[in-house]
Amino acid sequence: MEKKNRIETTCVQGGYTPGNGEPRQVPIVQSTTFKYATSEDMGKLFDLEASGYFYSRLQNPTCDTVAAKICALEGGSAAMLLSSGQAASFFSIFNIAGNGDHVVCSTSIYGGTYNLFSVTMKRMGISFTFIDPDCTEEELHAAFQENTKAVFGETVANPALTVLDIEKFAKVAHAHGVPLIIDNTFATPVNCRPFEFGADIVTHSTTKYMDGHGVAVGGCIVDSGKFDWMAHKEKFPGLCTPDESYHGITYVEKFGNAGAYITKATAQLMRDFGCTQSPQSAFYLNLGLESLHIRMERHCLNAQKVAEFLESNDKIAWVNYPGLPSNKYYDLAQKMMPNGTCGVVSFGVKGGRKAAEALMKALKLIAIETHVADARSCCLHPASATHRQMNDKELIAAGIPGDLIRLSCGIENYQDLIDDIQQALDLL
Ligand SMILES: *Cc1c(COP(=O)(O)O)cnc(C)c1O
Repeated sequence: MEKKNRIETTCVQGGYTPGNGEPRQVPIVQSTTFKYATSEDMGKLFDLEASGYFYSRLQNPTCDTVAAKICALEGGSAAMLLSSGQAASFFSIFNIAGNGDHVVCSTSIYGGTYNLFSVTMKRMGISFTFIDPDCTEEELHAAFQENTKAVFGETVANPALTVLDIEKFAKVAHAHGVPLIIDNTFATPVNCRPFEFGADIVTHSTTKYMDGHGVAVGGCIVDSGKFDWMAHKEKFPGLCTPDESYHGITYVEKFGNAGAYITKATAQLMRDFGCTQSPQSAFYLNLGLESLHIRMERHCLNAQKVAEFLESNDKIAWVNYPGLPSNKYYDLAQKMMPNGTCGVVSFGVKGGRKAAEALMKALKLIAIETHVADARSCCLHPASATHRQMNDKELIAAGIPGDLIRLSCGIENYQDLIDDIQQALDLL
């Protein structure tokens, strides 16, 4: 067991403790396969009788080292890296739900996740009930069915910036005997550790703040190890009854609550779907993690200053940032994330869609990109980019007004970001 360090130290040194004469930096094990002396040795690995590496589609030492760091940051019991955040969201649900099952999900989630759940996973026979994150406990209870297997939401939602009351969602999920899965991409474990509020499983798009430099697409799943699968074994036969594809192993019996979920996701889903992160990408991700704590502080400071500037400017129609005392989620954000939420701010310009387009065209430092959570500031006008097929009425219904600009504040000097927005506003 690693000694429990403070989060900043874990960002820098977690997951990897080299021995005498070993590389100081995490080595990139760029090998698809691993050598053994006897077939018997290897057979034990295939039977999950011994732990070790045999093929990098399932597990790789570099990826495991970096997963162990993220696991320590979240305070979990086990973790795995995946090829993308999308793969992480998919595995997190599909590991415990299949054809005929049901999941309760917050409406306020990343668009890609919404599409994955409501279109692609629906085709696999999994149904979803989407519920307003600000719903009452009674409304949340009412969304459950006999076949519900999980609840899913985002700590700070991309792009709506709603803050999820994780304690409320965890309490209701547990009352129905199912785990709460939280996508913690925007907050990162530096700002929020969902397990401390009762969440059971955490997912990440590591492509965002964890990488933080726009270098490598990746995902991660962390298990808290606290959900008692056997107490609800009729709901989770995949974890609580023998797996015929692994010679009758019962994951919870063999690996306990701490290891069963991630072992199953690795041994079954990674084996069959192969959404593997490359060791090279894991190495880049680790470099990002080493400065995550410092970058998050600056992302949040910059977003706070920019949001305050925008709120006081009379050419701006509205500003949405949970760090503003005027924001609906301010108190909840202060409680769950006293050090800040994220670096993303959304706002509307007076003059609507046309003015939004003109403002963005005039920005010099802040680039137009389909990305967030990068060291470099960037912005996006969903109405003319990701949601351009929608008309103004449909945009309003989707909670994305035509004048909405999503601004991801990087780690530059905030006054330069404000100056850039000011000069663009002056041209309107
Ligand atoms: C980007 C994102 C994802 C998807 O991650 P990819 O790495 O792009 O596949 C999932 N959830 C959130 C909150 C995101 O911002």
